[in-house]
Amino acid sequence: MKKLVVLSGAGMSAESGISTFRDAGGLWEQYPVEAVATPDGYARDPELVTRFYNERRRQLQEVEPNRGHCLLAEMEREYDITVITQNVDNLHERAGSSHVIHLHGELMKVTSSRQPNNPAYIRELKPEEWEVKIGDLAADGTQLRPFIVWFGEAVPNIEVAVEYVEQADILVIIGTSLNVYPAAGLLHYASPRCEVFLIDPNEVNVTATHHPINLIRKGASEGVKELWDTLKG
Ligand code: NAD
Repeated sequence: MKKLVVLSGAGMSAESGISTFRDAGGLWEQYPVEAVATPDGYARDPELVTRFYNERRRQLQEVEPNRGHCLLAEMEREYDITVITQNVDNLHERAGSSHVIHLHGELMKVTSSRQPNNPAYIRELKPEEWEVKIGDLAADGTQLRPFIVWFGEAVPNIEVAVEYVEQADILVIIGTSLNVYPAAGLLHYASPRCEVFLIDPNEVNVTATHHPINLIRKGASEGVKELWDTLKG
């Protein structure tokens, strides 16, 4: 089976009703990034940050994977697929994708404030446990914090992601503006023999690469359908 690696971003989940990062009217216009997605923001106002992620978790219970997520899961019948996602939602998993690497953490997980990447303290919340309160503690006695990689923090899964991209026969980039590093740099690890597709309804700045890119100017659902048809030839 050919190895197909997907690199997905916020646009992958847009058709499920989750706002993207930079599109006009996106969620992040209402909440400054420095306030809710940095360690400093959390140190300054843990209640605001906790409320923000509670709200994201509550919203996640109300949305469903879209056709694009589901088609990627179905494509596992024909391809050896690894999904590398910048998204913190669990829609790829809920659609049935069996191998998902989250670069920026997972909304439905919480961890220790002191050692956020220590597996001993990472815990998956049940859907009904979406509301975390100040005073809820991790196993090491520190305040439970979201298992989210904030801006300025290391991205522990980037090395394993690089390995998958290097091995890929086909790389499919979906719904990411390729602005957030190190995720945006993953494309550079694709081998010269790797076929690269980019699915996005809007223009994406990929001038930094010499790799030929097959553009599919469509939203995730229609775009993945077109990808599959194209690959079938
Ligand atoms: P981004 O918002 O910077 O870029 C989104 C891209 O999706 C844009 O290029 C846009 O044109 C495209 N897009 C819009 N609608 C689309 C559709 N229907 N189908 C396909 N593509 C569509 O997002 P990013 O590059 O992922 O970077 C944002 C950061 O914000 C990431 O770090 C991510 O962790 C975080 N984030 C995550 C979620 C989530 O988990 N669902 C949502 C918002 C932001």
